[in-house]
Amino acid sequence: MAKRFWIGAVTLMICLANMQAQTQVIAHRGFWKTEGSAQNSITALEKAAEAQVYGSEFDVQMTIDGKLVVNHDSSIEGMIVTETSYKQLRTLRIKNGEQLPTLKKYLKRGKKLDIKLILEIKPLTTPEMECQATAKIVKMVKRMRLEEQVEYISFSMNVCEQLVKLTPTSEIAYLNGDIAPAALKAKGINGIDYRYNVITEHPEWVEEAHREGMKVNVWTVNKEDLMKRLIDMKVDYITTDHPLEAKAMTK
Ligand code: MG
Repeated sequence: MAKRFWIGAVTLMICLANMQAQTQVIAHRGFWKTEGSAQNSITALEKAAEAQVYGSEFDVQMTIDGKLVVNHDSSIEGMIVTETSYKQLRTLRIKNGEQLPTLKKYLKRGKKLDIKLILEIKPLTTPEMECQATAKIVKMVKRMRLEEQVEYISFSMNVCEQLVKLTPTSEIAYLNGDIAPAALKAKGINGIDYRYNVITEHPEWVEEAHREGMKVNVWTVNKEDLMKRLIDMKVDYITTDHPLEAKAMTK
């Protein structure tokens, strides 16, 4: 009887350890390297959900008149997003023919899908603008009751600190790669999302983050050997332009 108990207990412990070690996949700017898709498009979000990965990452910026839009580059067809009104941008088409998505439209679609929404708040021209954009974004996420589904990431420490104030129970990860996990945890930031070379140069940060109860995400991991190396390092998430290949490797 006792022997059977111990076999059961050990099996359960092994299962739990494996569950913790499982690396999950985040589609970088959605799943865009596929038919009819484009970076940061609504289609890319839908395709990421179809691929059944953990999350879909996307970039959020604010126009001069305070409209939140989903786009990576600071300018579109020569127009700088932060210096242009939404009225001027709304007529533009992104590469797959879709209208430039507003954050509201993006979140509305995401809410119907079974996938985490990894929302990157881009650094803006001034700290005041960053505070304004962050407050607006958090308010929208809360109003749409998406707090469980949205996770935040940013290169801006100011944005991360604002997020800690406004939505302290959310997943918040810092992207810039220049701060050790424990120092971030002391600020209330509960994740690191660092470029792959930072993580391979600081393998001890994975363990440090886990000791602090933080998640480790790594970007942008497109090569198979690197995926394997990071999976072996037990990072929590791999952010990639190749979600299907990454998913096959994490199984
Ligand atoms: Mg991004």
